[in-house]
Amino acid sequence: MGRQTRARVDLDALRHNYRLACRHAGQAEAMAVVKADGYGHGLEAVARALQGETRRYAVACLEEAERLREAGLSQPVVLLQGFHEAADIATCVSLRLEPVIHSEHQLAAIEQALLAGPISVWLKVNTGMNRLGFLPPEVDALVSRILRLQGVTLLGMVTHYACADDRDEEMTAQQNAVFAELARRYPDLLFSAANSAGHFRESSPRFDWTRPGIMLYGATPMIAESAAELGLRSVMTLESQLTAVRTLQPGETVGYGASWRAERPTPMGIVSIGYGDGYPRHAPTGTPIWIGNARVATLGRVSMDMLAVDLTAAPYAKPGDPVELWGANLPVDEVARYAGTIGYELLTGVTARVPRVYS
Ligand code: PLP
Repeated sequence: MGRQTRARVDLDALRHNYRLACRHAGQAEAMAVVKADGYGHGLEAVARALQGETRRYAVACLEEAERLREAGLSQPVVLLQGFHEAADIATCVSLRLEPVIHSEHQLAAIEQALLAGPISVWLKVNTGMNRLGFLPPEVDALVSRILRLQGVTLLGMVTHYACADDRDEEMTAQQNAVFAELARRYPDLLFSAANSAGHFRESSPRFDWTRPGIMLYGATPMIAESAAELGLRSVMTLESQLTAVRTLQPGETVGYGASWRAERPTPMGIVSIGYGDGYPRHAPTGTPIWIGNARVATLGRVSMDMLAVDLTAAPYAKPGDPVELWGANLPVDEVARYAGTIGYELLTGVTARVPRVYS
């Protein structure tokens, strides 16, 4: 048997989280955001698990949408960044994808395209994120241009929040006011604004479609509330095993850079996982790890294939014992905080070397 490093993916927890998104979406429907390989959980498996739940998926790019179609998934798929090349329009038509048009060059390309079939598109409106999209005053002219095109259906408009994770931030209300005004002007179109965080802001309108991503995977979208407080269940448990144990004597150091030095006899374990698997190299000494029924802490620098832990709180631990890096017992958001990042980055960063095991 090989190395016991793997990411267990709990598809029931995923469905639970999707249903929670639906409850928070109210009258709106929730499209499942499965980009970045299903936030690291495996695009096809995640999409299949939600097949009976969602009526729409959203991905970042064409390659992800192609994978969904190859996996036999036939629901509408929104391409959140639209297409990058004019030549990709034909693929959108043949695979029945719904590109988001966010810039003039895309609109010009679709105006000039010889379409082999019908295509449905969304228009991206920049209400304050200032990343992608057209400004609200441009929208009327753009809608007229799209409505003139043979074979092109304008489904609706999307926008994206900049600060929805922060309940105290005023910006979401301003973005909503601008978008709601467009929704009033175009009652026949569909409107979509809320990312995961938008589901937890009581006063925020849900419009017609929400776009939950991170909450489906059981990590918190909010700055000040944990996933458990929001009722979310952890989906990925990143596991490995102890591969060696030894006791460090006072004065001995551990790992590259000899950055940690024992001041007392310290039982230490080596876990068979490192940054080559997606565990963050910048996780400092003291980052929590779960072994047996105890929380222990990392020691020194994370290597490519292994890391060291202080076994003072788990002195019984021995080689072969299972280790949880994050998951059901240790929220990924907590590990992320130690590493100075967010759950999103840790989940999407688990590398291809780590098998995903589904249950
Ligand atoms: N909509 C768009 C346009 C996005 O870029 C993303 C993710 O970054 C989402 C929705 C989902 O966001 P979250 O994962 O915060 O729910």
